[in-house]
Amino acid sequence: MDVDPQKLQQARIGIERLSGLLRAQSWAANDAPALHPAQRSLLLALAGQANGLRSGDLAARLGVSAPTISDSLRTLEGKGLVQRKPDPHDGRAWRMSLTRAGKTLARRLQDPAAGLGPLLQALPERELGQLLRVVQLMMREAQQRGLASGLRTCLGCGFFRPYASTDPKQPHFCAYVGAPFGDAALRVDCAEHKPQSEEALAIAVQRFRDAGPS
Ligand code: SF4
Repeated sequence: MDVDPQKLQQARIGIERLSGLLRAQSWAANDAPALHPAQRSLLLALAGQANGLRSGDLAARLGVSAPTISDSLRTLEGKGLVQRKPDPHDGRAWRMSLTRAGKTLARRLQDPAAGLGPLLQALPERELGQLLRVVQLMMREAQQRGLASGLRTCLGCGFFRPYASTDPKQPHFCAYVGAPFGDAALRVDCAEHKPQSEEALAIAVQRFRDAGPS
């Protein structure tokens, strides 16, 4: 794919500026206590994980190194937001989960008005769908390049059937819920996600790209 380097540079600057804005917001979002952005991401990754996650899985999911995740976890434990419990399947491992205070804080951080929420709320559904399409493809690329693993996007899911529905407003189909849905409902982190083989994923990505809006 040969794209004009200047266009790529503009796209990169735009994403980096938005990312900088998000980082600035993360320090004190929505009256929540000041949190480092990495700690914020960790809290959100643990939200909804009733059985917790191992630190290695967390690191892979967030695309950060083991030492970085250990530092953040230690800090969050010190703040009483995260707890560790022995892994019932492996006596030498620990599973990290949110404490009651951590769950309360995660709910506040998930508030649609927190972080970049107000900017996203300004987008009509069609544009939100376009954004989510790009996010799916970029997350797939990050995974393919080894920058992240364990991502739970629709595009990487064994239940995802891109453009399998005849409804043009809801062109995709989720075989888990048995219902069609549109781009604006594409999930970036879905608890029901089912990993699929690299071969099946490549076919899904191709179809998602080819059958999508030109
Ligand atoms: S199970 Fe979740 S990730 Fe998989 S296709 Fe359905 S909504 Fe998307």
